[in-house]
Amino acid sequence: MTDSMIRVGVLALQGSFAEHARALRRLGAEPVEVRLPPDLTGLGGLILPGGESTTILKLMDTYELREPICRAAAEGMPMLGTCAGVVCLSTQISSHRMQPLGLMDISVARNAFGRQVESFEEDLAIAGLEGPSFRGVFIRAPIIDRCGSGVQVLSRLRNGTVVACRQNAIMVTSFHPEFVDDLRVHEYFLGMVHDRAAALNAIVADRRTGATVGGAGAPVQTGHGRGCYAEPR
Ligand code: GLN
Repeated sequence: MTDSMIRVGVLALQGSFAEHARALRRLGAEPVEVRLPPDLTGLGGLILPGGESTTILKLMDTYELREPICRAAAEGMPMLGTCAGVVCLSTQISSHRMQPLGLMDISVARNAFGRQVESFEEDLAIAGLEGPSFRGVFIRAPIIDRCGSGVQVLSRLRNGTVVACRQNAIMVTSFHPEFVDDLRVHEYFLGMVHDRAAALNAIVADRRTGATVGGAGAPVQTGHGRGCYAEPR
């Protein structure tokens, strides 16, 4: 399968969705703006962009996207969350009454690096990315203050703070890879999308030949689903 055949959704309710779409296009994938549940059909993956997590979560409920996104994750659809996207995918947001999606076993503290003027950049080593360090752009970023045992840490700041991690097919970065020219984080994510597409193709091939389904193609249970159906007002 070539990149041009891979359709990757970008949640386009608010925030940096245009920048993510541009990065995907530059890598030869087809970005699809997701605003309503039917937009999720036939996607190889989904990106939750930076922006304002409060607004994004509210709009997600308004447009009834919460449950279908959680279902897609439970079926193993790869997802990438950046900055506000991390908050949306987390299991717990400290000192905040919004209910996140609960798809990654992490807790986050919103805006914990400080205000807009305290935005910063730092060169990062990211596991799985080859070559030089990656320029991390942090804008009112959340701090990931707890990672569950199934979560793999991919990158930390010099002071030890976790800034990128992965749990099965879900990856998050508290910085903004969509704001730099370096496409390696998006490339890594497209690798996850390709792996998933290959696993699904294997299931289809198995079914055609009547073989037992399981192994590589079996749906991956991601997260805990706690935020998928509850919606506090
Ligand atoms: N502070 C924002 C939030 O918690 C995230 C900021 C960003 O995405 N740059 O939603």
